[in-house]
Amino acid sequence: MIRPIVKYGDRALHQRALEVDAITPDIHSLVDDMVATMYAAPGIGLAAPQVGVPLRVFVIDLSVGRDKSALITMINPSFVERTGMQLEEEGCLSVPGFNATVARPQRATVKGLNREGGEHQVEGTGLLARAFQHEMDHLDGRLFVDQLRGIKRDLILRKIRKLTKNGQW
Ligand SMILES: [Zn+2]
Repeated sequence: MIRPIVKYGDRALHQRALEVDAITPDIHSLVDDMVATMYAAPGIGLAAPQVGVPLRVFVIDLSVGRDKSALITMINPSFVERTGMQLEEEGCLSVPGFNATVARPQRATVKGLNREGGEHQVEGTGLLARAFQHEMDHLDGRLFVDQLRGIKRDLILRKIRKLTKNGQW
């Protein structure tokens, strides 16, 4: 089932998400719905707070469903290692219509539980490392806009406020 994606300003996006206690049928439904929602958007990553669920779960698929082996599900994830730095344009399904250059690690290794509750660890470079950091930030209530400084951030927030006021956000 495709779930609605909440946008910047929604409470769920701006608070720390909670650990998943147990892999229940509800968690399986959440993961499956998140994957369907990510593919439908379409996007390469989605965190549970983006569908209004404040739990530490994210999914990433750089192939957007074209390659079945590319889907990564992480429950209660943590960083094992982060090295290097990259500067690239980045966007977010919860901040549609905006993007900005954000500094991210060049290489990142994340460990967590998979959909079935087994432990796994995945190493990413480039875009995957960027996606890991972006989704991990969601679980801590941070969006890419929050990483920006000064005039670029003010400009985006001003436009979002205006869209919200006009009922277009
Ligand atoms: Zn995002």
